[in-house]
Amino acid sequence: MRSFYGKLKLVVNKVNVPKEVKTYCPKCKDHEAHAVTLYKAGKRRALAVGERAHAREKKGYGGQKYALQHEFAKTTKKQTLRLKCKKCGYMRHKDGIRLRKLALV
Ligand SMILES: [Zn+2]
Repeated sequence: MRSFYGKLKLVVNKVNVPKEVKTYCPKCKDHEAHAVTLYKAGKRRALAVGERAHAREKKGYGGQKYALQHEFAKTTKKQTLRLKCKKCGYMRHKDGIRLRKLALV
């Protein structure tokens, strides 16, 4: 029998993350203060090889090679945190959990 809790979906609505955390730095090999920011994907370069190849594939009659998704099942997003060591400047990413809203406080 499936348990009652097995049917519940765990959705984290809001998480407050401090702007500065003290955590392990692999370069300093010690716990140091880290500045916390939210990772965002960079701007796509239109002249990159992959972008040009994709544009070439899409060109002409019947150019769309895969179905475009219009409806999305997920309402949450995995947010990635960017940690920057305040002592040596080493930057690393920390994968987040699924959540609706993330606030840096
Ligand atoms: Zn460091």
